[in-house]
Amino acid sequence: MRATRYLIATVKETPADAEIISHQLMLRAGLIRKLASGMYTWLPMGWRILQKVTTIIREEMDKAGAMEVSMPVVQSADLWQESGRWDVMGPELLRFVDRHDRDFCLGPTHEEVITDLVRNEYNSYKQLPATFYQIQTKFRDERRPRFGVMRAREFLMKDAYSFHMDQDSLNTTYQQMYQVYCNIFDRLGFEYRAVLADSGNIGGALSHEFHVLADSGEDQIVFSTTGDYAANIELAEGQPARPADTPTGELQCESIDTGTAHSIEELEQQLHCTARSMIKTLIVHGTSNEQQGDSPTLVALVLRGDQELNETKAAKIPGVLSPLRFASDEEIENLLGCKPGNLGPLRKDILTIADPSAAGMTNFICGANQPGRHLRNANWQRDCHFDQVVDCRTIQEGDLTPDGGAGLAIKRGIEVGHIFQLGTKYSAAMNANVLDENGRSVTMTMGCYGIGVTRIVAACIEQRHDERGIVWPENLAPFQLVIIPIDAHKSEQVISISERLYQQAIERGIEVLLDDRDRKTSAGVKFADAELIGIPHRVVVSPRSLADGVVEYKGRSEAEKHMVPVDTLSAYLAERIAPRS
Ligand code: ATP
Ligand code: MG
Repeated sequence: MRATRYLIATVKETPADAEIISHQLMLRAGLIRKLASGMYTWLPMGWRILQKVTTIIREEMDKAGAMEVSMPVVQSADLWQESGRWDVMGPELLRFVDRHDRDFCLGPTHEEVITDLVRNEYNSYKQLPATFYQIQTKFRDERRPRFGVMRAREFLMKDAYSFHMDQDSLNTTYQQMYQVYCNIFDRLGFEYRAVLADSGNIGGALSHEFHVLADSGEDQIVFSTTGDYAANIELAEGQPARPADTPTGELQCESIDTGTAHSIEELEQQLHCTARSMIKTLIVHGTSNEQQGDSPTLVALVLRGDQELNETKAAKIPGVLSPLRFASDEEIENLLGCKPGNLGPLRKDILTIADPSAAGMTNFICGANQPGRHLRNANWQRDCHFDQVVDCRTIQEGDLTPDGGAGLAIKRGIEVGHIFQLGTKYSAAMNANVLDENGRSVTMTMGCYGIGVTRIVAACIEQRHDERGIVWPENLAPFQLVIIPIDAHKSEQVISISERLYQQAIERGIEVLLDDRDRKTSAGVKFADAELIGIPHRVVVSPRSLADGVVEYKGRSEAEKHMVPVDTLSAYLAERIAPRS
């Protein structure tokens, strides 16, 4: 490709609204342009990279025997009503009506469409298991689109769905897909982790996310530094690294005057004790019929003073409103008759859930449910009360693994893939059945497997860049080699040699860019562009080096330049660059 015939859309300045490095570099390198919030055009340079990503994904999915399909972006509401998701999905689902007044939506995911296809096309156990996939545009009207293609509204996803006679068969395919994902992320050169995940509103039981490790990641992932345990912080379990700081046995409980001290920190100072000797009580809304004017039901969540509530875990507790809603100070005062800072788990008339960190404590400090007062040496049953023990705390760095093993670390990750065991959630709701070997109708068991294709490009840049730009791995770079002629207007020889090297590279199947832009584009700009775009190999042809019969070679991530005789350049490159075609 010649630069003069190609859109090199690099920009020098860092765009003001791009917060993270991958977004900045994708705009600066001319890979994408914003059309509207969360919607991007992929420019030719960016599209080439995206194609390389999809090729890797397609090869691995095909190798695993998955069948590629293409389903419509627009989906009819009927199917979503059948699965029950039409009413459950919030404004992320972009809905509209056609000219006949029929309801439609833009597909955020395709469980309904594929289940409809399979129930129509499949009727026998002999046809199962079967896995379908597509690489296709999704639309989610995200509340906060940001970071460019990282969290977009329109994005490319690889979504796959598998259908089975039973759980065993699903387990086998799930394991296989787990391995396929590892293969894909290995080929992409990622530093990544597979972690246990929350299955969210897609439903189902077992689920793993694949995270690329990066400080800009929106998720926090927890993993054992010595063992196998790894989970998204949304559901990670473990034990606090340090035990409660309270005496054992049952001491006499007393009500103490704590004046205006309300927070854990204020109490620590006033009472000269640690947060590990206290209990904190948080009040959230329960599931109730508030629409009909009933006053809200409240639920008390109780944790050790130094622990934080995990809102995802809490929202899953039966009886707790999901998504989680904290009671306001006013609601607490009106319904419980005391300020939040003096709350304690004393009342039996509201559902009280204790995290294990609190449930195991003795002789603790907690609110007395009276203005300006706390209890010292409070004990469960005698002075305080809980209905159930449910894990609802957020793991902290250094906590022990669930089985007591040492050392949980927490890192930030970018979710690039997610696999779920769906079970029969969709197939049961949509009557997706086949006949078994005895002629009995059986509801199919399903799995689904997503990869954020456009997000992968951004995630890769987060891990591979330097102060000059992107540093692509060989297999994702838009071009493998750039040839930069210098002072071509002064030297016919520079032109002819550059052209010759360019043709040789093409003949060898190397994806090469000849930067034939004229003298208005300085050599410095050409170097800077090649580095910004991240082309792995660079050859510079200048009158000065040609006078010695050599050209200059430099690898993108190498510091050293090498002078290579013109005649041996082809062989020199052959050692470094594997042809793509
Ligand atoms: P997230 O928690 O990041 O919103 P999700 O759990 O909603 O992701 P899935 O429904 O599992 O995502 O979608 C499969 C994959 O699609 C995700 O692993 C992610 O890589 C990608 N993806 C999801 N939402 C977006 C988005 N708004 N922009 C770009 N990629 C996305
Ligand atoms: Mg999402």
